[in-house]
Formats: sequence, structure tokens, C-alpha cells
Amino acid sequence: MHVKIPRVPLVATLAAVVAAAALLAVPIPLRAPASAGFIRIPEAARGPAAPTAPTTPNATTPPASAAPEGTPAATVPGATPPGTRAPVVDHGPRTGNKVALTFDADMTDAMRNQLRSGAVRSYANLKIIDLLERERVPATFFLTGKWVEQYPDVTRRLAGNPRFELANHTYGHLAFTPDCYGLPRIAEREMTADVARTFDVVAAYGGRQTRYFRFPGLCHDRKALAALAPLGVTVVDGDVVSGDPFAKSWRPVVRASLDGVRPGSVIILHVTEANAPMTDEALPHILAGLAERGLEPAPLSEVLGLG
Ligand SMILES: [Zn+2]
Repeated sequence: MHVKIPRVPLVATLAAVVAAAALLAVPIPLRAPASAGFIRIPEAARGPAAPTAPTTPNATTPPASAAPEGTPAATVPGATPPGTRAPVVDHGPRTGNKVALTFDADMTDAMRNQLRSGAVRSYANLKIIDLLERERVPATFFLTGKWVEQYPDVTRRLAGNPRFELANHTYGHLAFTPDCYGLPRIAEREMTADVARTFDVVAAYGGRQTRYFRFPGLCHDRKALAALAPLGVTVVDGDVVSGDPFAKSWRPVVRASLDGVRPGSVIILHVTEANAPMTDEALPHILAGLAERGLEPAPLSEVLGLG
């Protein structure tokens, strides 16, 4: 049994900044052997009722090649049968040469207040988007509803890029477990509606919609996963944590992104500028390092669906 390693989320409180800084020193191991497949069911969800077979949510590859019997052909990447517990994915199959660059777009009330007071200029790092567009790099964006509402024009730009996929990162980046890096907690009875509302907010922009979902701070337990069951989603954690929140230099971000990256990897980055100020400087080096390793960024649905 592997030990779950805490990972670094993007959070807004000072206490969390300190906690995140401490976590940056923690080496990030590969968390699952390739033979274990790429769907990880967390400890809290294991048991007789836990699903025993992974699903392969992907609309761009023939479903017959990988989907287990009983899984309906997905029309949207990440879609799973509503009513079943959401699968949790760390990475795709370790074959081929594709990796996923994923960018989280957090927006808490505290962050919004920082913007409104003028203390912070931007939580939308346009230099990242410029670079991805210029270099024609595919990427997947996990959007909070409040970030979308703060940045409708940027969201339109993301949705308008055929190389970008859009995914769900909750409405207001609240914690879905009791102890999640100091983030304010959402009530259990509000979880399902929060995530559903975010899908609605993002859906209005069109583009490459998905049913991929990422918890704030990657914090989830049995109750949080149960709350998602009606929504038919795939939970995507990731296997490469860049540690870009509150980074003081681009170098550790590059190192963390490239150490341990393998075919099928899902790299976690942030597009939140003021809270992840080095990501745009790190990104060219990350792209160069991936190319040196023969790895190629691809939309998340392609990375998870390969094999
Ligand atoms: Zn986040």
C-alpha cells in the first residue's frame, strides 16, 4: 500500500502559504506502479462497494478499445455513468509519448477581495496563454466558476482555442474535506450543486468541454466522491506536482515538473499569476525539457485515452 503524499494546492491564506512552502521541500515520488493501471481509488473509497474496474473516459478514441462492458460510450471526455462513484485518475497509460499540461484557475473570495482592493493585479497569467498559443501547445484548464466570472474574456479565449480543453475546479475553490490546507470548507449538502453550477458556468463558453473535475488542494474523501456521483465525472488529480504556487524562482518549478515525468503524466500547474508568479517563466523550460525527453503535450482526454 502506498502512502499518500500531500501535495501543494493554490490557496489564499497566509497560513496556507507557509504550509505550501514547507511542502515544496517534499520530494514527489511516483505514486503508482505502471502495472496498477491509471485509475486510483483513494483509501477512503476502497471497500466492497468501490468500483473494481477502471473506465476510460474519452470521446476521441474508439470506446470498444478500452471501456469495460457496461460503460456507455462517452460523448464528452471524462463522462462516466451518473450514479456511480467517480473514478480518480492520476495519469494515463504509460505508453506512447503524450503528457498533459493542466492549469488550475483558482478563485476564492479572499482572492477576489485582493483584486477588488487593488492589492493584487491579476490572477490570470496571460503570458502562459500567449506562449501556449504561439507554440501551439495543447493544454487543459481546470476552471473555478468564480475565476470564469472574473475573467470572461480570458475564458472566451481559452474556449476558442481548439487545442485547449476546459474542466471543472469547483465554483469558489472551497475545501471538500475537513482539513485541506486551511481553505474554507464547503458544506457537504452543497457539494453537488457547487460542482454542477460550475459545469453550467463553463458550458456557456462552448469550446472543448469535458466532465473532468479536480478538487481544490486535491483533497477528497469518501463523502466528497459520493457527492459527485450524480454528475458523471472523472476526478483528475495528477502525478507530477510542479509546486508552482508561491514559487520564488522558476527553477524549482521546472525541476519538479520534469523529475519523474513519464509518458501518460498529468502535470499540475496554475494560471493564477499573483499566486503562481513563476509559472510563465518556467513554462518554456518545461516545454524544452519535455521535448528533450521525447514527450509531447496533448489534451488531457488524449493522454488518458491512449493505450
Ligand atoms: Zn486549485
